[in-house]
Amino acid sequence: MTAQLIDGNALSKQIRAEVAQRAAALTARGVKPGLAVILVGDNPASQVYVRNKVKACEDGGLHSVLEKYDAAMTEAELLARIDALNNDPAIHGILVQLPLPKHIDDHKVIEAISPAKDVDGFHVSSAGALMVGEVGFKACTPYGCMKMLESIGMKDLRGKHAVVIGRSNIVGKPMAMMLLAANATVTICHSGTADLGAMTRQADIVVAAVGKRDVLTADRVKPGAVVIDVGMNRNDEGKLCGDVDFAGVKEVAGWITPVPGGVGPMTITMLLVNTIEAAERCA
Ligand code: NAP
Repeated sequence: MTAQLIDGNALSKQIRAEVAQRAAALTARGVKPGLAVILVGDNPASQVYVRNKVKACEDGGLHSVLEKYDAAMTEAELLARIDALNNDPAIHGILVQLPLPKHIDDHKVIEAISPAKDVDGFHVSSAGALMVGEVGFKACTPYGCMKMLESIGMKDLRGKHAVVIGRSNIVGKPMAMMLLAANATVTICHSGTADLGAMTRQADIVVAAVGKRDVLTADRVKPGAVVIDVGMNRNDEGKLCGDVDFAGVKEVAGWITPVPGGVGPMTITMLLVNTIEAAERCA
């Protein structure tokens, strides 16, 4: 069997066209959706990420502000900037690019963002809202994975068993909560799981969010399963690859996301969706 591809670039393009329409409708009503992106320090990967986020906003007709600060910025100065943005009516979403310099407490900074503007979905209040089924913001990467499942007709997952590999606060845990909210039966695996293959072989859906190559090989996948690869790693040639042995697993799975061109483009797209949702809640 050769799996069908879930194309993150194509799906992103479609969702971004919808974002642009919603942004235009809001702007016509006098509310231009605005995102503020804060970067502290000069981490090269972070610089690329924030540039891509700001460009995606511009392409979608959103207002965006990029605030870049020297690595010597103090925690108090950063908290003061967040406070100002929390009170700025032109800004509906605030994103602080992680990691922050070591002298700044990530958690304190994220918690300083108003929950109404937490478009990354990392605030404790967003995580809590997801847990109890209230309105909040969904973390962008798992939200993108859910949209990928929806795109292949898997919206209500009643009767499906989903296995999430990884339990980070930004991917694995919110992913599991979103799958549960969609009525799947959910198993979360991590580095302490005794027999990963025994778990994943039972799964109708496997989401790999580990950060290690070849965590999921063909012998660990049930024939016809949907495989979502969140991982971002480098192979021996230095090329981007995921956590899944793509060549092997595509012969067993029913659907599979590629890396690159899978979950990656969906993450920024869902940031735009969250920013639009934040602006719509104010309109
Ligand atoms: P993380 O915080 O390092 O978490 C990794 C998780 O994998 C942990 O829960 C860890 O278990 C688990 N793990 C490690 N080795 C394992 C093994 N052999 N078997 C089973 N589980 C294992 O990473 P993250 O921030 O969630 O990111 C995961 C990957 O997704 C990374 O490659 C990252 O670059 C990528 N990512 C991609 C996007 C995107 O937009 N495409 C966005 C975010 C992240 P313990 O908890 O027991 O340590």
